[in-house]
Amino acid sequence: MSLKFTHEALPSRVVFRAGALEGLAAETARLGKRALIISTRGQRLLAERCAGLLGEATAGVYANARPHTPADGVREATDVALRAQADCCVAVGGGSTIGLAKAIARHGLPILAVPTTYSGSEVTPIWGYTEDGIKHVASDAQVQPRIVIYDPLLTLGLPPEVSGPSGVNAIAHCVEALYSESASPLVALMAEEGIRALGRSLPMVVKEPRDLAARSEALYGAWCGGTVLGAAGMALHHKLAHVLGGAFNLPHAETHTILLPHVAAYNAVAAPQAMERVARALGAGNAAQGLYNLNLAIGAKRALREIGMPEAGIDRAVGLATQAPFYNPAPVIAERVRRLILDAWHGRLPSS
Ligand code: NAD
Repeated sequence: MSLKFTHEALPSRVVFRAGALEGLAAETARLGKRALIISTRGQRLLAERCAGLLGEATAGVYANARPHTPADGVREATDVALRAQADCCVAVGGGSTIGLAKAIARHGLPILAVPTTYSGSEVTPIWGYTEDGIKHVASDAQVQPRIVIYDPLLTLGLPPEVSGPSGVNAIAHCVEALYSESASPLVALMAEEGIRALGRSLPMVVKEPRDLAARSEALYGAWCGGTVLGAAGMALHHKLAHVLGGAFNLPHAETHTILLPHVAAYNAVAAPQAMERVARALGAGNAAQGLYNLNLAIGAKRALREIGMPEAGIDRAVGLATQAPFYNPAPVIAERVRRLILDAWHGRLPSS
């Protein structure tokens, strides 16, 4: 078969090393003179450490980023940034923090991201917000962080129960990139590498959270995952995760983690080459089973009911996920999607 693809490299400067945060001031100076530092409440101390590193270049600290980027939070944080006359943002934290910075970036403030989870948002142009239970997602090159500092030391304190699902969130980007309609050979290479790195390191990270080598490998895998998420269109898995997260306010990474083996089973027959690569990267005989076993190895929750999804919400979820057509290797059929969600809700083994 002759090759056919379109590949667009997204510009970003990536600095990856243990201790890289010490270079924050010099990196931030590439973007602007006054940075608003953004974090969640739980990571305020780290945000204040960043303020210390930036000194007079700190325009303020906004430590109130929340999951799923609620629209009222975006309005408040944008107001703070504009009043502080910030000309750039430093987002230090996970996808929720980086997501808030991206919503602010639409007002022209470039971002330096310091990711402390494996969400991958720091290398994508995808942004969004949640309003009235609906998660709105769009892509805008303007919001992609211009600079990313990956410092694995900052992830040593990420609790194992957050680390495991966060890493599987990054694996999900890789799995869907492998069967994306807009994948290129380079994206596929990076996707397979991301699954390999995360599949190997996550069980070690969960067992020994302060293992710097494992943390480095996991963060490297997260960079691969984020990069392919930014470069290739996603499919059923991301659709379901967004719909469920927005409609029922479910924890993002855990929702991804529970769904992924089931979506791999759903797409197994329609995307055999992608599944072969997933299985190879995990050292498993079968992609869905390999992903399910990885979830067991990291002690992840297995059922949507365990993370707060109401059984009565299943019909609504099927409706939201199937109402508008989107690309997926296997046809998106409401009855099959319902069975997938039911299996995931109960925490059953993935069925093909
Ligand atoms: P998160 O950012 O909500 O972080 C989870 C929790 O972990 C938070 O309480 C945070 O304070 C804490 N935390 C983060 N890093 C820590 C550390 N090193 N040590 C201790 N605690 C730490 O979770 P997430 O899974 O990273 O991000 C989820 C959000 O990101 C969702 O809204 C999702 O839609 C979005 N997302 C966006 C993209 C994109 O490309 N736009 C990609 C992936 C995820």
